[in-house]
Amino acid sequence: MPQPVDYVFDLDPESLRERVLSWEMPAYRADQILDWVYGRHVINPLEMNNLSLRDREVLAQRLCFTRGRVVRHQSATDGTQKLLIEWNDARPPTAPNHSLAVVAGQPQTECVMIPAQDTTRSRRTACVSSQVGCPVGCRFCASGLGGLEGNLTAGQIVEQVWRLGMLSDLGRITNVVFMGMGEPLANFDQVARAVRTLMADWALGISGRKITISTVGLPAQIRRLAELDLPVTLAISLHAPNDEVRRRIIPWAEFVTMAQLLEAGRYYFERTGREITLEYVLLHAVNDRPEHARELAQVARELRSNINLIQFNEVPALPYQRPGDAEVRRFRDILAQAGVNVHIRASRGRDIAAACGQLRHEARV
Ligand code: SF4
Repeated sequence: MPQPVDYVFDLDPESLRERVLSWEMPAYRADQILDWVYGRHVINPLEMNNLSLRDREVLAQRLCFTRGRVVRHQSATDGTQKLLIEWNDARPPTAPNHSLAVVAGQPQTECVMIPAQDTTRSRRTACVSSQVGCPVGCRFCASGLGGLEGNLTAGQIVEQVWRLGMLSDLGRITNVVFMGMGEPLANFDQVARAVRTLMADWALGISGRKITISTVGLPAQIRRLAELDLPVTLAISLHAPNDEVRRRIIPWAEFVTMAQLLEAGRYYFERTGREITLEYVLLHAVNDRPEHARELAQVARELRSNINLIQFNEVPALPYQRPGDAEVRRFRDILAQAGVNVHIRASRGRDIAAACGQLRHEARV
């Protein structure tokens, strides 16, 4: 039996229509298939009972409906859920994107669903990975510990959101953040394609304003993103108030200065009119001093950006410590008094290592 070449999460309606026509099916089969997958969460073609039996059997042979297999599912006490997904990447030579290098066994990535409820609305945020491992290797983050193994395709990114959307009977995923494993802008084309699918009415219909792409800083790619006119939120993982501190914790800061990064951020803001968020992980005695807060306030004011403070989440084998709540509040207050819009981001899912900086690409945690 031939191996399916096409992966449904990588296809848009037009490409799927071309495929079904070549398999001697009517063009409207494409819309029916997408409705089953995205609208009804069905990925077994044999269950698609408004299709003829012949077409269901052809689809089962010709179309790959999932590349991921959940090898571990964990639930935290705060309702956060984490999936470790193993990717079947035994792709035939004609398949697109051969960038995924399999080092030992099949590649694995983690993704997280974070529910939140306030008085007026409920949110379910999907935190997804864009790469297997990470090329940046921030010294405080588990995701970069083993380096980069490869890129995920747009379909593999979308499949993570699709799978996380099935975890809860609370309703569909409302927000997506590219804050799992990987540097999203280092896998630019696939991330941009994934965003378009996430936003599309024929797929998940998530508002662009509720999709956040977080980057540690690739100025040229920030400019490219601004020019795409995707209505997403950009978050820059700054994590330091100056180049000297930044170089100590982010290896790529050797190649990109904060001035270059902030210049690209300004361009993004001017071109899109959308405010940038600066992400700042607080590491005890490294970047959490009052003078750091004052320096950071200056940067945020110049960029007219808001700031998310993240209290470091411990990772075994990493030498950093989580600052105390009082130190975090003091840091926040200095920023707020300087007129900066600042929030402390709650650490979610820490008891299952699902919080910021704790995701890995192996089952060894
Ligand atoms: S913080 Fe982000 S960019 Fe840095 S190593 Fe972790 S996943 Fe990569």
